[in-house]
Amino acid sequence: MTGLTPMIKQYLDIKENYKDSILLFRLGDFYETFFEDAKIISEVLQIVLTNRNGHPMAGIPYHALDNYLKKILDNGYKVAICEQMEDPSQAKGIVRREVTRIITPGTIIEDNMLDEYNKFSCLIDKKDDKYIIAIFDFSTGEIYLDSLDLNENELIDFIINYGFVQVLISFRVENINKKIKEISNRLYTEKLDEWYFSSDYKNHIKESYDMLSIDHLEYTKDELKVLDAVLKYLEITQFQKIKHFKIPKRLKNLEYMFLDSTTIYNLGIVPSPDIKGKTLYDVLKYTKTPMGNRKLSDILIRPLKDRKKIERRLNIVESLKNDEILIRELDEYLSSIRDIERISSRIALQKATPKDIAALRDSLSIIPFIDDLLKTNKILKDYFLNVDLLQDLKDMIEKTIFDEPSLEIGKGEVIKQGISEELDEYRNLTKDIDKYLKEIENKEKSKTGLTSLKIGRNKVYGFYIEISKAQAKNAPIEYTRKQTLTNSERFITKELNELEKKLIISEEKIKKIEKEIFEKFISNISRYVKKIKHLSEKIADVDYFKSFAIASKKYNYVRPIFSDEKTHIKSGRHPIVENFVSEFTSNDFSLDLEKTFIVLTGPNMSGKSTYLRQMGLISIMAQSGCFVPADYAELKIHDRVFTRIGAKDDIITGKSTFLMEMMEMSTILNQATEKSLVLLDEVGRGTSTLDGISVAWAISEYIFQVLKSTTIFATHYTELTLLCDIYPEVITKRVKVMETNNGVVFLHKIEDGVSDNSYGIEVARLAGFPSEIVERSKEVLGKLTDKVDIENKIKRMRNISKKKYKRPEGQLKMF
Ligand code: ADP
Repeated sequence: MTGLTPMIKQYLDIKENYKDSILLFRLGDFYETFFEDAKIISEVLQIVLTNRNGHPMAGIPYHALDNYLKKILDNGYKVAICEQMEDPSQAKGIVRREVTRIITPGTIIEDNMLDEYNKFSCLIDKKDDKYIIAIFDFSTGEIYLDSLDLNENELIDFIINYGFVQVLISFRVENINKKIKEISNRLYTEKLDEWYFSSDYKNHIKESYDMLSIDHLEYTKDELKVLDAVLKYLEITQFQKIKHFKIPKRLKNLEYMFLDSTTIYNLGIVPSPDIKGKTLYDVLKYTKTPMGNRKLSDILIRPLKDRKKIERRLNIVESLKNDEILIRELDEYLSSIRDIERISSRIALQKATPKDIAALRDSLSIIPFIDDLLKTNKILKDYFLNVDLLQDLKDMIEKTIFDEPSLEIGKGEVIKQGISEELDEYRNLTKDIDKYLKEIENKEKSKTGLTSLKIGRNKVYGFYIEISKAQAKNAPIEYTRKQTLTNSERFITKELNELEKKLIISEEKIKKIEKEIFEKFISNISRYVKKIKHLSEKIADVDYFKSFAIASKKYNYVRPIFSDEKTHIKSGRHPIVENFVSEFTSNDFSLDLEKTFIVLTGPNMSGKSTYLRQMGLISIMAQSGCFVPADYAELKIHDRVFTRIGAKDDIITGKSTFLMEMMEMSTILNQATEKSLVLLDEVGRGTSTLDGISVAWAISEYIFQVLKSTTIFATHYTELTLLCDIYPEVITKRVKVMETNNGVVFLHKIEDGVSDNSYGIEVARLAGFPSEIVERSKEVLGKLTDKVDIENKIKRMRNISKKKYKRPEGQLKMF
């Protein structure tokens, strides 16, 4: 190309390799962008678009990079950071520049760009009929890996509902990108080409995990290739080896109840952008550390299935709950623990700051106190001790790093005295410079007898001897004039000149040596990363147990007991709703091996959904190891909780609500078992009444005959309550309604029986409809619901032949 400056040529050469990224090109104190990139960022960041030799250009000051980066990433762009690789003042010709890092929403590691929550990304690949999915948080090193039996719609649903910050899509499933974008065009996606999934995965994984063999990892070859692709992707964006990842866990680990994203959303278990109000997580959150917060959220979406393990957690929670002083003391100490999990990731990536290291030291110095506290409790003692308290690491930091290090490395305020003789020497020189100057001043004063003589220094002119105008003519001959001011003259001497040079050299040396020592120190302590992560996990455990204990006490929860035969809850409450209504009406629940299916009827807004969700939340809390909102709770241990609740807003996906409903239902029919809890709210409403009733009827029969899951089916269709007359598995419940002279009052109380009216017109009245319309509606209803008609319908349904479903052949889908 002709007519281009060498620098623009260099820019274009580099940009050639990073076409998919916004290239931030370091130019002195700025990161500049050119051409298309400049137009994009000037718009995204609302900064001025300028012109350099006719090319569009826009720049951001280097020190404000983090603030701007977040905005660029939030707008769905990938960023490549191109740095100056040599000191511009030393460079011969054009400064050498290289891209040192690629940043995407899922590869942020800087403390000030992260909040305390997990930032999960995923990678999706496909082998045969199964999707292989890796879910990982780069900032903490957590990773899940599994093959899931999903159809494409379920996969998209999973991706959209999970709250990922970025989605990597293998070349094999490229087509899903379009679908994701149709639903959420802000979600960052990226395609990974075939070479990411190469056959030399074994060696690479071994190297990343520092393991001699990976044969003991119980994953298929294709799953390991996906793990390898994740590591490769991160290495390419970070320009370094990834060593801080934990061993992957299975998503549908048989130990855990697998909650699908629809259920997590429907029950409001953890916060997500789509959930407006409070979630179960918010109610139970009395954690004090970032690790504890993340763990609490993880625990709630992966409840246990093993009774012994659940009891063990409950024992710990109970013991803490009864030890109020211990809780208070733990709270106090835990409040001072910083995010050492993420700090350890930054250590592994050589990106830790002096501030990080000081925070790590402060956190480590608190650990022994926590340990001492835990020792005082019988149960906790067995559970938590044997953790390396890492006091040797704390001592190392104490010895090496300033108590309050400066933010910047290179000012001599990070590495302590006594670590490097050379550093100390230069530092002493710079520190004593004022003393030396004073000595010279005194010496010169007495030598020359000039009373106005004084020595000063400033940034631009360096050192000088200043003498008043009146005395300046008597300055010794060896003084060289430097600068003339209104009232004085400034001079320099050889001695002063040399001292000044020494100072400049010292400052440069300090910068260099301190940086070197700090980097060496970080790489030296990177051998502790695994141990810090292990300790972080223990801290997170203590923190969430304590959180469960505090919540259980505060809200008067009861310890659940488990039964294989029945579910029996006395005075159960909805853990979230009970905090937002002035008076919450508690309700009982009872099902056993014979009676497995409740048909729940009642008017709109009477509390059906609340009752349904309450049951799901109580089970999830219990199996997470928390006490539950009830006076008594005897529960089955469920393998899954399935929900089909309400009409989701599907305008964005373009799918009809009824189709969505049926898709969710089909998942449940394919996957629920005798051990599952199935919560159905208004299935069949998306179509005509008769259609809907018929589908709902057939679904119900299938559930209690074949699946035998513990089920609540809330419905408007009172016709469904006839199931109870035909099948022994079914019982009917209704929400009690009090009819007064002024209309109906909803009491939110669940009782035996069938709701005899849908009260739709009453709800319209409550909503403030003009009374004439209310009256007219009643008239229309009277015509539609001819008494003889209804009686005939009931007769016909009672005579419907009993259906005997058989379990379908073949393996049930296990997702
Ligand atoms: P439905 O599913 O019957 O339409 P919801 O379960 O959504 O009704 O309940 C409607 C509202 O009634 C809730 O938002 C809550 O404010 C209140 N509510 C529900 N159940 C109870 C209860 N047990 N005690 C007190 N208020 C309740």
